[in-house]
Amino acid sequence: MSNSNLVNYTKLSLFKNSPRNHKIDKITIHHMAGDFSVETCGNIFTRIGKNGSANYGIGSDGRVGLYVNECDRAWTSGSRENDHRAVTIEVANDCKAPSWHVSDKAYAKLLDLCEDICRRNGIEKLTFTGDASGNLTMHKYFQKTACPGPYLESRFGEIAAEVNRRLSGGKAPAEKTPVVTYQVYANGRWLPNVTDRSDYAGNFGQSASALFASAAGDTLYYRVALKGGRWLPEVKDREDFAGNLGQPFDRVMVRAASGRKVHVQAHVGGKVFGRWLPAVTGYNASDAKNGYAGNKGQAIDGLYIWME
Ligand SMILES: [Zn+2]
Repeated sequence: MSNSNLVNYTKLSLFKNSPRNHKIDKITIHHMAGDFSVETCGNIFTRIGKNGSANYGIGSDGRVGLYVNECDRAWTSGSRENDHRAVTIEVANDCKAPSWHVSDKAYAKLLDLCEDICRRNGIEKLTFTGDASGNLTMHKYFQKTACPGPYLESRFGEIAAEVNRRLSGGKAPAEKTPVVTYQVYANGRWLPNVTDRSDYAGNFGQSASALFASAAGDTLYYRVALKGGRWLPEVKDREDFAGNLGQPFDRVMVRAASGRKVHVQAHVGGKVFGRWLPAVTGYNASDAKNGYAGNKGQAIDGLYIWME
């Protein structure tokens, strides 16, 4: 069993069980509840009567202290069972309660250290379950304490995801394309919602006069223009609909807050002689080619909206 190469400072504590009685398969992240350097933290863990320690500490400057060799059990989490199998890490706080924020440098080093611990100990994946059953655990699961504090706590899911991304070869997980859900108002009523290209919104031959659209995991902004007339104000998601009930629109533009491409395709001309116009991805009222879907003067009676 080895220690991390990331260590900048070593001061071994007497508060430990040597060796640990379980192979390392967990990581427990703590906060120092103070802005201590790795040296100060080392002094605390070697103070007679402290009866507390951790395997590692990380200062707000991103330096790493070693206080208990990984082959030994540190006294950190108030759980013999947890600490015999976990590497414990104390992280300095650059802000006090209530946030117990940690610096970006400390956070970045925490990710590096977790990755390194996993690699050297054959931990294939960090699992954050929100309780002691996962292998990324919190002090508060074992004792009545605020540790690791709201800030670190809020990032546990992200810590597991980022470390796992690195462990799996550094490839970013394939991002899921948000599903667009939308509906139009035509012939005096809201027609059913449709998603992506599973079906189109509208009824051929019935002019659409309003549009609702939203996307799971993204924010949509969109506008429509009155048939032969002006553009109406931009709306966001389902805070309001775009359009005026009963007044047909002939142009539509949609954009996503994330910057992902949104495709919009309009149908004009009714059931028998109608046609789908080319799909567009722009958001520009003065670009008739790709800035919006539709043709000025031709009421829209069908719509497809999807993202990529
Ligand atoms: Zn703690």
